[in-house]
Amino acid sequence: MLTCEQLTGLVTDYIEGWLPMRQRFRFRLHVALCRSCRRYLRQMRLTIGALNGLPRQPLPPAKEQELMHRFRAWQRA
Ligand SMILES: [Zn+2]
Repeated sequence: MLTCEQLTGLVTDYIEGWLPMRQRFRFRLHVALCRSCRRYLRQMRLTIGALNGLPRQPLPPAKEQELMHRFRAWQRA
């Protein structure tokens, strides 16, 4: 079974529908058995829904590049 920490690392892929079937099954099994992760998943969905309701403003290209650079550095760490 997935650990709570593993689940938090997969939650974005799960919500966006990118998890392979086996991982999705393991994710759902954990959520069915773990109240904390059910709450976490619900909060993530609410947060994403709230953020999607905000007006979108384009980022200045330099800021976008800086954020992407930091994100890739974070992924490598
Ligand atoms: Zn959990």
